[in-house]
Amino acid sequence: MTAEGHLLFSVATLVLAQKLNITPVLAQGDWFHMIPAVLLGSLLPDLDHPGSILGRLFRIISLPLSKLCGHRGFTHSLLAFCGLAILWETQITPRWDISADIFHALLLGYLSHLIADILTPSGVPLLWPLKARFTLPILNKKNNKKGERFISVLILIGALFIPPHLAISLPAQINNWLQMYHDKRV
Ligand SMILES: [Zn+2]
Repeated sequence: MTAEGHLLFSVATLVLAQKLNITPVLAQGDWFHMIPAVLLGSLLPDLDHPGSILGRLFRIISLPLSKLCGHRGFTHSLLAFCGLAILWETQITPRWDISADIFHALLLGYLSHLIADILTPSGVPLLWPLKARFTLPILNKKNNKKGERFISVLILIGALFIPPHLAISLPAQINNWLQMYHDKRV
């Protein structure tokens, strides 16, 4: 998927997650915090590609990453997602006192990237280091910008028409975990 596709898809996912009340923090979050965070999160997995937006900015990270794991390797796995969550909460947030809505939106953006790449024929190795790739190739042409935009618009329209009573919440345990560090600082 193209960078534009990932950015659009992440914003659509954020609107959907907010409407579905996936986490209380996202439901009451500040859009001026969440939009930049979800956009950044949606670009992070492609740090393993030196030609990507972040890969070009941080070649010192992208070059060794692409050599070691290849494109759509480690950074496109649940292990990397969990690693980012732990690193962010234990190292980054305590030092800069970053609010919880930024953290939740960043993770959502990251997750939206993995989901979006699953919609392409190459899929992603969600269970890396296992090699099995997960794919649901709805976007079967390369650089299919029209298709990418269409899916994002579809999600946005779906989100806008979701009745409030359909709001879901992540299992209580995950929510408690996500809330834990935030509550500590309040
Ligand atoms: Zn990717």
